[in-house]
Amino acid sequence: MNKPLKTSRVPNKSDLLSLVVPVFNERSMLPIFFEHVLPILASLDIRSEIVVVDDGSEDGSAEFVKTVIEKRSSIRLVKLSRNFGKEAAVTAGLEHARGEAVIVLDADLQDPPEYIPEMVRSWKSGFDVVLMQRRSRVGESFFKRWSAHLFYRLLNRTSRTEIPVDTGDFRLMSRRAVDALLRLGERNRYMKGLFAWVGMPTTIIEYDRALRAAGESKWDYPGLVGLALEGLTSFSVSPLRWATLVGLLAASVGGLFGFWIVVKAIMLGDPTDGYPSLIALISFLGGIQLVSVGIVGEYVGKTYIESKQRPLYLTEEVVETREASSRDQI
Ligand code: UDP
Ligand code: MG
Repeated sequence: MNKPLKTSRVPNKSDLLSLVVPVFNERSMLPIFFEHVLPILASLDIRSEIVVVDDGSEDGSAEFVKTVIEKRSSIRLVKLSRNFGKEAAVTAGLEHARGEAVIVLDADLQDPPEYIPEMVRSWKSGFDVVLMQRRSRVGESFFKRWSAHLFYRLLNRTSRTEIPVDTGDFRLMSRRAVDALLRLGERNRYMKGLFAWVGMPTTIIEYDRALRAAGESKWDYPGLVGLALEGLTSFSVSPLRWATLVGLLAASVGGLFGFWIVVKAIMLGDPTDGYPSLIALISFLGGIQLVSVGIVGEYVGKTYIESKQRPLYLTEEVVETREASSRDQI
């Protein structure tokens, strides 16, 4: 049965804020991260915890977090058994977060923690989702900005879920929004789309996305293209329809062309020679067919993966100090 969502409630002082931080090979970043974030959390008038999800780092990130945990009871480490990707890591973090509100934050300080107090204020004023929208994309190439723009346009044209432009995972969600999100059990986790699907009272705060303070982005172009395809095919089936439409169009043009050649040969006595046009036509149609089969394959593959019902991630261990379970403050 589809249970109704919990009604929203007014946050109070004893509420807990969870910070979910996915970490993959961020050893050089983590000390700076904690140094930055902890004072900001301490300045809030609500309690807070940090859930660090180690997504199979191989550079000692998890070990470093463990040393921090020894000193700070408000930090927890969820260590995944291998690298499952950021989307799975964020899901793991959301599942382990205990807070009445949850903020997802990158470890590389590209999502400025300085905005946390403002996000919390928006939440307190009654919003379930506080979206952080990038005002500028400092240091990103023209090509990256342009391709991102094109992608969002395409995505929002094709899917019925409006996915806000220039927002990432950096956002605050109320407990009921998190619970709603965790009910979506699909394996292909295109987070931005899932977040948007949940809906709920939402407000937007604009911010300037900073450059990475240390380490390297884990995304390369093939990865981004993969993510874009994932986004398109997770949230709409219209590519399948395009394939049909393009096929129909190509078939009609081919049919008319054939008809015209016959008419020309019989009525006008002008037999057409010229295999170049044939070759062009055949490779054009062959291309369309292959692309269409590929599109169908994307969906069949997705169905296959979903049908296996594998867990999204495996947790190797959860590390916390004993006081943390009794909800201690920083
Ligand atoms: N990340 C992760 N698993 C991965 C890749 C990245 O948990 O497989 C984390 C990474 O440690 C960082 C965040 O996701 O905290 C964003 O990654 P990155 O900075 O590489 O992405 P970008 O900012 O370039 O989108
Ligand atoms: Mg980054």
